[in-house]
Formats: sequence, structure tokens, C-alpha cells
Amino acid sequence: MSQSERRGFRSQRCISCGIDVSGTNAARFDCPDCGHLIFRCAKCRKQSNNYECPDCGFRGP
Ligand SMILES: [Zn+2]
Ligand SMILES: [Zn+2]
Repeated sequence: MSQSERRGFRSQRCISCGIDVSGTNAARFDCPDCGHLIFRCAKCRKQSNNYECPDCGFRGP
């Protein structure tokens, strides 16, 4: 049995565009609904892209 994906551990990807945001000044916050850790890159933050929580489906600006 292999675990190819570990959710929420060392996974820093922009919630909107999916790029790796580790080492950048990406915004980092918890989902207001379930507390899932969410990252958003500076570019998407600037464009105010909507995000959708991968855990509970909460959508926010
Ligand atoms: Zn992004
Ligand atoms: Zn959530």
C-alpha cells in the first residue's frame, strides 16, 4: 500500500491556479468553514480569484 498524496502536509499549492507557492509571499489562511489550510499565490490574490475549499467545497473571494 502506498500513499502517493498526503493532504495538508508540505503541500503548498495555490488553491486557484495550482502552482507551487512554497517560498513565495502567497497568502495563507484557514477555510472559514472547516479550517482546511489554503494557499493562494500573489497573482491570484491580486486578481481576487475565487477559491473553493477542496475539503468542504466552501467558496470565497
Ligand atoms: Zn494562483
Ligand atoms: Zn473548507
